[in-house]
Amino acid sequence: MFVYADNAATTSVSKTALDAMLPFLTEYYGNPSSLYSFAQQVTEKVAEARETVARCLGAQPREIYFTSGGSESDNQAIMSAARVGARKNKKHIISTKFEHHAVLHTLKRLEKEGYEVTLLDVHEDGVVRLEDLEAALREDTCLVTIMFANNEIGTVQPIKEIGALCRAKGVPFHTDAVQAVGHMHIDVEEMNIDMLSLSGHKFHAPKGIGALYVRKNIPLFNLIEGGGQERGKRAGTENVAGMAALAAALKESCENIDIVTPRITAMRDRIIAELSKIPHSRLNGHREKRVPGTVNMCFEGIEGEALLLLLDRKGICASSGSACTSGSLDPSHVLLSIGLPHEVAHGSLRLSIGEYTTEEEIDHIVKVVPQVVEYLRNMSPVWDELERGVKPHLI
Ligand SMILES: *Cc1c(COP(=O)(O)O)cnc(C)c1O
Repeated sequence: MFVYADNAATTSVSKTALDAMLPFLTEYYGNPSSLYSFAQQVTEKVAEARETVARCLGAQPREIYFTSGGSESDNQAIMSAARVGARKNKKHIISTKFEHHAVLHTLKRLEKEGYEVTLLDVHEDGVVRLEDLEAALREDTCLVTIMFANNEIGTVQPIKEIGALCRAKGVPFHTDAVQAVGHMHIDVEEMNIDMLSLSGHKFHAPKGIGALYVRKNIPLFNLIEGGGQERGKRAGTENVAGMAALAAALKESCENIDIVTPRITAMRDRIIAELSKIPHSRLNGHREKRVPGTVNMCFEGIEGEALLLLLDRKGICASSGSACTSGSLDPSHVLLSIGLPHEVAHGSLRLSIGEYTTEEEIDHIVKVVPQVVEYLRNMSPVWDELERGVKPHLI
């Protein structure tokens, strides 16, 4: 049996998205910047895709900029807000300890350039506290960037309240919503969001296409110099096929959220309930405040990498943290941020399911994971010491 349980890393391209993109790879290959009518048909499609994305987010079309994905959107939002801030001598940025590296590494770069960065604690449940944010806000804060949903543990932040607080203090608020868009209802007006990053390949559009929402009164600087595409804010010939696919996939996902969410949530809860029966295991992140499809658990006494390799042999694709950090032996910064000791963080497993996941696949997961954990523990000297009481159990 083959079970793809790594939808937080990437998703398959849906039939809807594929059908939407194909004409732009074959028949309608004109460059939208060209003036003849053959290309103008393509220009119209770009406008249509932008309208669709805007509608799904409660935004206006002119507030949507297409990019190459979540990483670029995050970089542009943060670098732009930093430049705007510098003009007013505001060089303080607030974020959290468990952001995606596209955010954290951009902030590191800004620190080297003289900006001051405050990373908020996300507490044991992986949720930011408003009082922590309130205490961190300063006169010279030029940006608050807090992710909507975490990519490793799936916890969802109080975005509307964070946005309201930032709005009241006159500080722009950006959210990396890559894990939430297409999976949760999002309205940038209602949620007081000034800038939002999204990525197509996390909701069944292809890789390499994303978007950045920027509220109309917020100035935006470009990262990439060149032509005047995206109203001068993002140079480069448009990835029209990608834009059409992203818009189609997003529209389909948003229309189906209310039907799909209860089913995915029920399957996720079954995984949590079954795997929690494994002794010395724990669920990472708040039990309820989470995206429908993501489960992250730790099993004491085993190595995440070994677990993944054995699961792979049983046909299960899973992850031990984010796709970006696997391959490194350091435990994930996300798991450390919620206070897990190094040795526990090493034994983590992320399963992220989606709308194409079936009950039979969940059956396979909840049967195989406990077997593999037991098998690894039987061979583990660390587990042996824990069981003999040489070392105390940590979870
Ligand atoms: C996947 C992901 C990104 C990066 O998006 P790409 O389109 O792969 O560049 C950024 N942030 C989060 C939370 C993600 O899950």
